[in-house]
Amino acid sequence: MTTIRELPEHLTNQIAAGEVIERPSSVVKELVENAIDAKSTQIDIWIEEAGLKKIKVSDNGQGIYPDEVSLAFERHATSKIYSQEDLFRIHTLGFRGEALPSIASVAKVTVETATESLPGKMLRIDGGTIVEEKTYGTRKGTSITVESLFFNTPARLKYIRTLQTELSNITDIINRISLSHPQISVRLYHDNNPLLRTSGNGDLKQTVAGVYGTKVARKMMTIQAENLDFQISGLVTMPEVTRASRNYLTIILNGRYIRNFQLQNAIVDGFGSRLMVGRFPIAVVTIETDPLLLDVNVHPSKKEVRISKEKELTGLIMEAIQSALKDKPFIPSGLENL
Ligand code: ADP
Ligand code: MG
Repeated sequence: MTTIRELPEHLTNQIAAGEVIERPSSVVKELVENAIDAKSTQIDIWIEEAGLKKIKVSDNGQGIYPDEVSLAFERHATSKIYSQEDLFRIHTLGFRGEALPSIASVAKVTVETATESLPGKMLRIDGGTIVEEKTYGTRKGTSITVESLFFNTPARLKYIRTLQTELSNITDIINRISLSHPQISVRLYHDNNPLLRTSGNGDLKQTVAGVYGTKVARKMMTIQAENLDFQISGLVTMPEVTRASRNYLTIILNGRYIRNFQLQNAIVDGFGSRLMVGRFPIAVVTIETDPLLLDVNVHPSKKEVRISKEKELTGLIMEAIQSALKDKPFIPSGLENL
């Protein structure tokens, strides 16, 4: 006969980490999203060996109060929602209070953080256990360093692909997040080589130039449309500048980069016969809506979001693209591949 027992916390955190922290890029995503929620204007990301050796994210955001730093590593501890009402009106990227405890349960983590008014704090956690804690003089903001990722979960480590694949996952997620927040300057380094730098001056076209290059940015047209529920803005390439995959379609919903096949299709459909089969534009489509129309709480990593009135939204995206294309000459796609 077996007996029922409640699992110890370090185990429940590792189980949650299985969902939230799949690979190095998941750590990067969660840390950068926290930096954005903390209202940072500068975020620096240093990666070593595709994140397996080291991931460090530094921001100039509001910081964590010294007596709350260890609480931030408790499961379901968050400063972002307090009530059920808040859950239906999510305006931050995080809210589940799962990322930090999950990361800390599968890696060695160092936090250095300070708020505007109080002395800063440094905390070191190894595999979920606090090993050092001290007052730390630092400027306002937070730096989180994650080392030896998956050192205590050999199965997860085995599942990691080549360093090249992991690094390209990281650059992909950072590119999308940078495009989602043109008002934040983002810098990414891998083994000390600069991979990305955005200006943070709020201009989407300049951010696109930082991510995809100035040639592509120059070939983009502005899109704009709205109805009572949704406001759409953004940039899409002219039909002569295309790519062979959908990977360059970025959809941003209330500041969150999301994956949504229907909305991606709406972009492509907006181009109609101007695209050759198998060719896709480069696009950044930003959608603002009332958070009440969204259910963000369907997937632990929140890449998928349920949208009420999705049909209406796809129609509006198509319209936005069609009207931007109206005065453009008809050039068959695929002629130029910048
Ligand atoms: P969530 O983002 O869902 O709230 P996390 O586990 O990612 O959960 O973070 C827990 C809490 O730690 C956050 O709610 C926030 O208060 C604090 N925090 C984490 N990272 C930062 C940061 N870079 N700057 C300021 N506060 C942070
Ligand atoms: Mg978070």
